[in-house]
Amino acid sequence: MVIVLGIESTAHTFGIGIVKNGKILANVKDAYTTESGGIIPIDSAKHHSLVADELVKKALNEAKVSWKEIKGIAFSQGPGLSPCLLVGLRKAKELSKKHKLPLIPVNHCVAHLEIGRITGAKDPVLLYASGANTQIIAYSSGKYRIFGETLDLGIGNFIDTFARYLGLGFPGGPKVEQLAKNSKNYIELPYTVKGMDITLSGILTNLRQKIEKINLDNKPLYHLPDHPPLLDNVNNKSYDNINFKNDVTLNNLENKNKINYTKEDLAFSMQETVFAMLVEVSERALAHVGKKELVLGGGVACNSRFQEMCRVMCEERGCKFYVPEKNLLVDNAGMIAYLGEIMFKAGIKFEGMKAEDLDIKPRERTDEINVTWR
Ligand code: AMP
Ligand code: MG
Repeated sequence: MVIVLGIESTAHTFGIGIVKNGKILANVKDAYTTESGGIIPIDSAKHHSLVADELVKKALNEAKVSWKEIKGIAFSQGPGLSPCLLVGLRKAKELSKKHKLPLIPVNHCVAHLEIGRITGAKDPVLLYASGANTQIIAYSSGKYRIFGETLDLGIGNFIDTFARYLGLGFPGGPKVEQLAKNSKNYIELPYTVKGMDITLSGILTNLRQKIEKINLDNKPLYHLPDHPPLLDNVNNKSYDNINFKNDVTLNNLENKNKINYTKEDLAFSMQETVFAMLVEVSERALAHVGKKELVLGGGVACNSRFQEMCRVMCEERGCKFYVPEKNLLVDNAGMIAYLGEIMFKAGIKFEGMKAEDLDIKPRERTDEINVTWR
């Protein structure tokens, strides 16, 4: 019997998970959020430090296990935000020393993928859509190979930035999904699939420009300064009744006629466009590698329209579609403990000086990991 405790701290979420023989006994977490604006890494790391000890206690209580029963401590080694990753590493080392337990360094992205197999999928293509990462992956010859990915922004960060332009706080994904439900009016946006990869920054610029037009319609982005009546000194005439060509009010009136969309329409159109791009690349990956299962993972996979689009594509191709439950989709430590246990059983563990020497890997890629446990 093996019980492993896992620690997640890569970005906005600090979590503790406990797994026993592939079964998740506890998966508790606390997430850093903002009213407006994105993640400030140092603030998120402070949040993690504050909640860590309480969450360890809570997880042990929930799982009804004691330290004596735990065989190893898994932690997210990377990729992620360095200040946040360091909180997880330090907590893992502290607990490892105190309870004399080996450490198991886990790649966060690979954990998102491996937890997908808890749904029953055996050898799927994985569409991994999270905050900072967006990849289409399949396992082959000892590695998770990346068949397509974003060339610039992660899909979640892209949606969060779009939400920020709309004045919504972090995380923006769920709020944008609600907005999108109130529209069926598709506004054309750039569709940027490049081979098997996608890019999102151009779409984001296009959306920002469209949002700026809505904002200009409601309140000018800049104001004319208050000024005394303009006088023609020579003729002593007031020009106050004259509409100048570059008057902001005039521009607004012109804009009003051009704008035929709402924020809801933009949210709807954004989702239809970028999810279609990801579904298209995933379908090509399925066709290319000849696999018959698709697993959706990462926080953006919580989006019900995204799930629906994947499901329809799979039905049309005669493939099976899987999506883990929500608690296992977003960043969580259940998946870190789950993969930690699999790695522990395959003999991957660090003790003594080797554990001391472990460091964070903020930029580690999915396809760098040697998957020796499969
Ligand atoms: P992760 O990095 O895997 O924890 O995923 C976090 C990302 O998922 C954030 O960018 C969220 O905005 C996004 N997200 C969460 N729920 C949804 C949703 N319902 N629709 C779209 N994005 C979402
Ligand atoms: Mg993640």
